[in-house]
Amino acid sequence: MIQKLMKKGGIDDGKPRLFVLCAIVILVLAIACGVGGCRHESGETKAVDATPESTPRPAPKIPLASSQNDLLKIAVEAKGSESKICYLTFDDGPTNTITPAILDVLKQYGVKATFFMLGSMIEKNPDMAKRVFDEGHLLANHTYSHDYHALYATGESFMAEVKKVEELIRKVTGEEPFKLVRFPGGGHNAGKYGEHKQRYKMLLQENGYYFADWNALNGDAEGGNRSADQLLARMQETATQKNIVVLMHDAAAKRTTADALPAIIEYLRGQGYEFRRMDEIPYYPEVEETVETSMEL
Ligand SMILES: [Zn+2]
Repeated sequence: MIQKLMKKGGIDDGKPRLFVLCAIVILVLAIACGVGGCRHESGETKAVDATPESTPRPAPKIPLASSQNDLLKIAVEAKGSESKICYLTFDDGPTNTITPAILDVLKQYGVKATFFMLGSMIEKNPDMAKRVFDEGHLLANHTYSHDYHALYATGESFMAEVKKVEELIRKVTGEEPFKLVRFPGGGHNAGKYGEHKQRYKMLLQENGYYFADWNALNGDAEGGNRSADQLLARMQETATQKNIVVLMHDAAAKRTTADALPAIIEYLRGQGYEFRRMDEIPYYPEVEETVETSMEL
């Protein structure tokens, strides 16, 4: 049956064979022509595409820091996790008086935190800086001097302090530091140095640094010698957002900060917060698609 059909298909006579041959030649010619045409077209398309690329982009009009490197903003708006996340941060150390007490509590509760260290304090207490690192916490940059007048005088003075601390952290840890800076006094645009700080945010960004303020605190720098109960109350009052970056201090005078820490951790756990270091934010803008894809899975 199949053989019959093949014969019927025209292999049994010379004319159809010639017809098939002609058809193939025409087809080959048509393809060759078509390909040539495409090549030509794609060349033209490329030339058209190249024009807008070569046009220079207009310079940004407002010389303010982009939110891109604002790690507080990134942490607060983080997607990719259903949990409430708390980033405990301790500024102005390390000290040999308060830092060890804070480290003991963090170890007891299995909590990791971020320490915004002063370069001058790392030089004074390098072993304590090393202990913070060895116990799994993040060492971040709070400038060398904390002296507003010297620090915020010029962009050069500001960046020189930042780089100096970075080198000290590198020396203590033996690792490349996470590039995160907290402005002494906060990075907001207010006060005598507010405008300077906005310009320095641009410098930080150009040099690949994040910066971060806070959106919750225990009030240990708000004046007076606050009791542990008062610090807990202030914490409860300010821990209102889903993701919080908590400002605290491990400077030498902040004894009650260490005293209040167990109750603060217990309170925040009770509110459903998980604790993380500031380099463990579960979402960064540049990996948004990856995170969303994995969420769907
Ligand atoms: Zn400070």
